[in-house]
Amino acid sequence: MKIGFRTVYLKKRFPLRISRGEITGSDNLFVSADDGSLTGWGEMAPGMSEGAETAKKGEAMLRDFCAGGLDGAIHDIWDRAHAAGVAPCALAALDMALWDLSAKQAGMPLYRLLGLSRRAVVSSVTVGINPPEVARERVPMLLAAGARALKIKLGSPEGVEADKQMFIAVLEAAEGSGAVLRVDANGGWSLDDARHMMGWLAKRGVEYIEQPLVRGAEGQLADLFKDRALPIFVDESCRKSQDIPGFADRVDGVNLKLMKCGGITEALRIAATARAFGLKTMIGCMGESSVSIAAGASLGALFDYIDLDSHLNLDPDPATGAPFQNGITLPADIPGHGGHLKDA
Ligand SMILES: [Mg+2]
Repeated sequence: MKIGFRTVYLKKRFPLRISRGEITGSDNLFVSADDGSLTGWGEMAPGMSEGAETAKKGEAMLRDFCAGGLDGAIHDIWDRAHAAGVAPCALAALDMALWDLSAKQAGMPLYRLLGLSRRAVVSSVTVGINPPEVARERVPMLLAAGARALKIKLGSPEGVEADKQMFIAVLEAAEGSGAVLRVDANGGWSLDDARHMMGWLAKRGVEYIEQPLVRGAEGQLADLFKDRALPIFVDESCRKSQDIPGFADRVDGVNLKLMKCGGITEALRIAATARAFGLKTMIGCMGESSVSIAAGASLGALFDYIDLDSHLNLDPDPATGAPFQNGITLPADIPGHGGHLKDA
């Protein structure tokens, strides 16, 4: 098998601001796995907390690892790469390329190879932290593009009053649309802020809160969980399946991402472990194109909530294969996960 690498700059249509900072775009690494007649595709969105902050670093890790050979089943390759210290985001790119190739070799969509149906719930579409007047402009554009659920980023460094002003702007702009509202604080709140905001947001029809407290504050989550006004999901706090037992008694659900956990192989384990603990499941994304989003969408049937929307905010998306239809990021119905670079 031949493994290939390409780096492509992904420019965001609208810069995305969350509690920790603003992102305008990223150099993503695309990985191909070629068996001589078929090619599988994978993608890495770089990230400091995902172990490789640049495409170059991810590529170097994968080149090193692949030089040792890629014999065995995908699960064995994943375990060896993980043990060798390949960054989760780089491993995700290789893993999804191998699964894509496997499904193409089997001549079936990846969701079917994984024993799943093509069912998928609506995807949240993200509204970043913005001044209220910008949020008022942005929300109608997202709704016009077909969004039926909005994930509103709060946890503004300017404090909870700024959060409230932005939330009210979104609420007013979305009024009458029927869109579901969800909130992600990205760990931007103190325990007191979180308690206060969750009560305030619950009164305004929000469905759940994601990562109210910073990663590392899971001890305080136990306090917040008692008498919580909204279901609590963790994202930054949950990287791999082994993390789940440590906080399962203080959250309602987990948000996994292929870049955080190292790809499809570990995502399957996280979903299974979360279910075993009676938790709800969600799949989210980093700054990914249609390649990685298509891979995530292939797992859609496993999740109660889906947040696969980063490809919709690219200008342009260099890839294709993750159609957004009626508010749903749909798994492709062709062999593989369906995602590939447009010029490949
Ligand atoms: Mg999140």
